[in-house]
Amino acid sequence: MSHSDAYDVVIVGGGHNGLVAAAYLARAGRSVLVLERLGHTGGAAVSTRPFPGVDARLSRYSYLVSLLPRRIVDDLGLRFAVRKRAVSSYTPDVRGGRPTGLLVDTAATGRTRAAFERLTGSEREYVSWERFYGMTRRVAERVFPTLTEPLPTREELRARIGDDAAWQALFERPLGEAIEAAFDDDLVRGVVLTDALIGTFARAHDPSLRQNRCFLYHVIGGGTGDWDVPVGGMGALTDALADAARAAGARIATGREVTSIATDGTSAEVRYEGEAGRAPRPPGTCSSGPPRASWPDCWARSRPRRPPKGRSSR
Ligand SMILES: Cc1cc2nc3c(=O)[nH]c(=O)nc-3n(C[C@H](O)[C@H](O)[C@H](O)COP(=O)(O)OP(=O)(O)OC[C@H]3O[C@@H](n4cnc5c(N)ncnc54)[C@H](O)[C@@H]3O)c2cc1C
Repeated sequence: MSHSDAYDVVIVGGGHNGLVAAAYLARAGRSVLVLERLGHTGGAAVSTRPFPGVDARLSRYSYLVSLLPRRIVDDLGLRFAVRKRAVSSYTPDVRGGRPTGLLVDTAATGRTRAAFERLTGSEREYVSWERFYGMTRRVAERVFPTLTEPLPTREELRARIGDDAAWQALFERPLGEAIEAAFDDDLVRGVVLTDALIGTFARAHDPSLRQNRCFLYHVIGGGTGDWDVPVGGMGALTDALADAARAAGARIATGREVTSIATDGTSAEVRYEGEAGRAPRPPGTCSSGPPRASWPDCWARSRPRRPPKGRSSR
């Protein structure tokens, strides 16, 4: 038995990106179907209640918010809040046989300065730190607003930043060069590099500049580079996004794994199955049945695209 429905847009995956897209497209009058493999939406941005009997929701995987533009919260009317955190990192070390470490406390610059001096023996690294992150903050102020604007060209972005030294350090040359030029202490270099290497499998001097891209995503958020704690965990955000998408008319179907997308360039056929080990009821006339191995193919079609108007944005 098979079944089809036609939508303007079929979105594969109900993580925060799929949900934001669904909410905006539905609000723009498109018919939207979100197909999510798991039994819940949110992707890596979900919450859990880890303490039995305590009504505390904590993030399960992704846990800090920086790259969510305020405009999306306002546009979609999301009931979602964040709190500032003071300590952004603490890195333990052993120097001269004695345990020590580097505290970066953005709420108490005096404590951070003292930690740098204790670790490195002078104020030089702290002064360099302030100068380096002063530079990234100025870049952040210029770059972050572009995330909700039509995608600028490389030259447009460079002109907007208006700081050739920063452009070279962050966009053109491997980030390791700027870090080595700014800092002498290996641990301080490592703390700065964390934001560049995490999850990239790149090296500090990688010619691909993957490390630069990763670093920029870590320092431009909100125009400040701050990373805030979501109240109710990340799931509070994705639940609010799912509510906004549904309220705008999007249909969200969980327990549906997309297995293929066939397109002729104007429309697409999206095939999906029920979740393994579960027997969810697929859309339309498909009835619940045996698990994945013998689950009948179900599918949805996206309608032919309208001719594009103007420039596309991210
Ligand atoms: C451990 C960890 C910690 C992180 N910490 C942070 C952080 O603190 N802050 C931050 O900003 N980012 C963090 N990230 C990165 C962030 O989680 C991702 O960038 C974000 O989740 C991407 O969102 P997404 O919607 O694109 O994809 P995802 O969140 O991955 O969601 C994709 C969804 O698609 C579904 N899916 C996949 N294949 C199919 C299919 N075939 N059919 C149907 N559905 C499918 C998945 O089940 C999933 O629900 C972290 C990531 C990890 C793994």
